[in-house]
Amino acid sequence: MTDSDATDSTGPDSAASDPAASDPTGSDSADADELIAERLLPDEAFELVAHETRFRILVALNEADEPLSFGEVRERVGVDDPGQFNYHLGKLTDRFVRNDDDGYQLAAPGWRLVGAVLSGGYTKALESEPIETGVPCSFCDGEMELRFEDEKIEMECRECEETYTNIPIPAGIFEDVAPEDAAKVVDSWLKRLHASADYGFCPNCDGRLDRTVRLQDDEDAPVDFEADDEAFAHYDCGRCGFGWYSSFPSAVVLHPALVGFHFENGVDVRTTPFWDLDGLEPGATTVESRDPLRVAVPVTIDGATTVFTFDADLELVEQRRN
Ligand SMILES: [Zn+2]
Ligand SMILES: [Zn+2]
Repeated sequence: MTDSDATDSTGPDSAASDPAASDPTGSDSADADELIAERLLPDEAFELVAHETRFRILVALNEADEPLSFGEVRERVGVDDPGQFNYHLGKLTDRFVRNDDDGYQLAAPGWRLVGAVLSGGYTKALESEPIETGVPCSFCDGEMELRFEDEKIEMECRECEETYTNIPIPAGIFEDVAPEDAAKVVDSWLKRLHASADYGFCPNCDGRLDRTVRLQDDEDAPVDFEADDEAFAHYDCGRCGFGWYSSFPSAVVLHPALVGFHFENGVDVRTTPFWDLDGLEPGATTVESRDPLRVAVPVTIDGATTVFTFDADLELVEQRRN
């Protein structure tokens, strides 16, 4: 940016010349062209809840079936001093907790915060030994196993070390799940991830998510992405930076054309794990044209192959019987 008044400028890197850092009153600022106003700065939000009593208040209200009186909340949280308790509850009220004629209950931001912690993204770790999934590797005769690695869950073949997924999956999804069902839960979670992406939402922060088709011989193609299809999909959130690479078939398996085609052939893609969709051969995706981009995904069911062709926006342009 250019400073309009150079004599007052303290330099291009100073906080005073940086519009993003120049608003010390960040809270409650509103812009007439924006749908949302910043009510609370992120560090303020964390400061409000980063206290044991305050977080216990949120959990107690989350567990309650109905609004609670002041005395009921205090009793459930277990704080004897009403004055001290009132101070902490007051800090949360209007932001994370609502107080009306019925009593105290969680406001939507408080409910989301408790949900994020319960999902286990911060607090839980998969402690078991690697889980043998029984899922056959699509590249060798080996079997995929699930293991907790570097705070994320990986599904990988022990024999050839082909990675099925290494997206950070919150360990909380495995609560009450038997080891033999763990792989299927991973499949459901990954499909939910892609469904969110199909609607343009980042699964991590609800920001806008970009989906792009990438080619295996792109100069900046990631070397650690070992899909052997000619094309794959890249997802990237401009807000929180969450992003991942996906094989092309798993990026389009929830497209209505593929969902409908499978359904007409007796296969529900929601409940059939991706690796059991036998018609979607790994490595069969091809690039039919680069300009305009056309990516073909053959699906073979009962010996008959139908080819679904997608464009650069992952939209279907053609469906033909081969
Ligand atoms: Zn393998
Ligand atoms: Zn995001």
